[in-house]
Amino acid sequence: MTDCIFCKIAAGQIPAKKAYEDDDIVAFHDIAPKAPVHLLLIPKKHITSLFDAGADDQALLGKLLLLAPKLAKEHGLEAGFVTRVHTGAAGGQEVYHLHVHVLGQPAAA
Ligand code: AMP
Ligand code: ZN
Repeated sequence: MTDCIFCKIAAGQIPAKKAYEDDDIVAFHDIAPKAPVHLLLIPKKHITSLFDAGADDQALLGKLLLLAPKLAKEHGLEAGFVTRVHTGAAGGQEVYHLHVHVLGQPAAA
């Protein structure tokens, strides 16, 4: 998808503060954080939303969710965190490339 902002982040064509990257996934800090820690986890493959994910994406979706607690812990959210996936206009989706939000407040030191 040439016009997709998250595809461009995945391809390194526009900058993002990356927190993680492997062959399938990129995670980066949300540009307008709604919590002290606010990460977005995306598949490198363009999937428009959960409505558009198929059986072929099962392992990728599992990988995204398993990465959430790992990155949360690395960012000080050992006490807990929120995951959100907005799907479609009525679900509050603004960027039409599937992403998992990880939000939380690090425990006081
Ligand atoms: P939503 O589609 O509602 O789940 O939310 C899209 C999220 O992407 C919002 O929290 C935006 O702040 C965030 N966002 C949009 N553009 C960028 C960008 N270039 N870099 C990082 N985060 C972004
Ligand atoms: Zn995309």
